[in-house]
Amino acid sequence: MSSHGTFGTTINCMDGRSLFAVHGWMREHYPVEFIDSITEPGMDAWINNMTPEQRAWVKRKIEISTKGHGSRVITVVGHDECAGNPVEPHQHHIESLRGAQIVREILAELGVLDAEVIPIWAQIKNGTWVAEKIS
Ligand SMILES: [Zn+2]
Repeated sequence: MSSHGTFGTTINCMDGRSLFAVHGWMREHYPVEFIDSITEPGMDAWINNMTPEQRAWVKRKIEISTKGHGSRVITVVGHDECAGNPVEPHQHHIESLRGAQIVREILAELGVLDAEVIPIWAQIKNGTWVAEKIS
């Protein structure tokens, strides 16, 4: 393990509300200090529609986070009120689940076989942005 802290990874929207909710959820549920954040607007849709070049660049970022920082917990996130991917919650869930599978394939290609990949849904509840696991 690296000496500069314990890392997790989120593959998430660029939306600060979703990042806020998921960073908190990850720190609460896993022994992680710092969350590497790989973002695009509407990332849950984006990751399902990558060009080969975009996939290679995401793969490189996942490699840095897992091999450089030692991250072994990776969330794939969709969120409510997403300006980059304005679809119904059910569609976000489908895309996050499929996105998680794509990330597992990338991890297998990288030879990282012991990482946990978790699809997540973030939404506002009682005035606060919160995250929950999608099953
Ligand atoms: Zn968004």
